[in-house]
Amino acid sequence: MTERIYYTEPACRTFEATVTDVTEHEGAPAVVLDRTAFYPTSGGQPFDTGRLGTADVINAIDEGERVLHVVRTPLSVGDAVHGVIDWPRRVDHMQQHTGQHILSAAFDRLLDNRTMSFHMGGESSTIDLAREVSPGDVERCVDEANQVVWEDRPVTIRFASPEEASRLPLRKEPVREGPLRLIEVTDFDLSACGGTHVERTGEIGLIGVTGAEKFRGGARVSFVCGGRAVRTLRMYRDAVAGSVRALSVLPLELPAAIERVQAESKQARKTIARLQSELAVHEAAGLIAASPEVEGVRRAVHVLDGWDSSGLKSIASSMLGQGRIAIVLVGTAAPLAVVVARSAGVAVDASAVLQQLLQRFGGRGGGKPDLAQGAGLIGDPLEIVAAARELVRA
Ligand SMILES: [Zn+2]
Repeated sequence: MTERIYYTEPACRTFEATVTDVTEHEGAPAVVLDRTAFYPTSGGQPFDTGRLGTADVINAIDEGERVLHVVRTPLSVGDAVHGVIDWPRRVDHMQQHTGQHILSAAFDRLLDNRTMSFHMGGESSTIDLAREVSPGDVERCVDEANQVVWEDRPVTIRFASPEEASRLPLRKEPVREGPLRLIEVTDFDLSACGGTHVERTGEIGLIGVTGAEKFRGGARVSFVCGGRAVRTLRMYRDAVAGSVRALSVLPLELPAAIERVQAESKQARKTIARLQSELAVHEAAGLIAASPEVEGVRRAVHVLDGWDSSGLKSIASSMLGQGRIAIVLVGTAAPLAVVVARSAGVAVDASAVLQQLLQRFGGRGGGKPDLAQGAGLIGDPLEIVAAARELVRA
């Protein structure tokens, strides 16, 4: 049985202990101690890292009776070790976890909306609420939670038997049997929890909600506390600064400016498509005039500058209406596009010609005997055209 120092002394960063068992976890050495301040993953809070003597602790696992410490270098039974917790990581976890208790209590007290589960991620954390929540209600609860943070209330630990606990106003019914560890945020929240918490709410600094969305009949609320809130603010600042520079607008004007740019770009794409199809008719006429006729079939094999694959296809289709013809059109813009086509009754298999070009120049594509398209070819367009001429005997 491992004595869990963090149960009663969550602020303990270093400790002395003795190795009582050595084993393996997923191929890495692992040790059990008589006592530990390392928090193992449980209740939504991730494990602590740190050192045992000179061995790095890279994971801590809750095995019920004991805590398994996964280490980089092996230790032996009987070794006396000096344990050191990676404190910045633990402080971050405590800020998020106590912040979660307070935020959950605010949703509970103001909206009677219960927290069904909690997950602490590497960047942000989430709580899943039983019911949906409006943006205005989220803001009210965040304000209430931050008020509790700024009042710097004590956060205390106490233990209670199930009978005592049943008479206490716990935020949710405990799932464990036996004696319960209770975390109390003075005059605000009382919850059964095995996690590590700050000693005063002021240590959380700030609780910020970064999103709320419908989730499984309820809502999923994402939040950041303490140092994460500062990092998130920095990230948003940089993203907003970059965007306002690019669009030359004020931060609050960004959504409307982005919508305007999107609408303009959609309109421009439409205009380009219309102009391309008009231009394709003229381009087609010129290309036909410049294509030799061999054995009663015009062989139109050309490199076309500045046309994308849909433009090449438009040109090919307007050429197809002009008598017996075999067509290979190669674009010049990367990734290189190719269109192969032939009119009815011409003995050229467009799909086979394309496959041979793809074999030689790479890229992907496919089609039918009368029309095939490829893209992503690598090579000099003139070389591709030379190879295509041989294939359609132009
Ligand atoms: Zn908790």
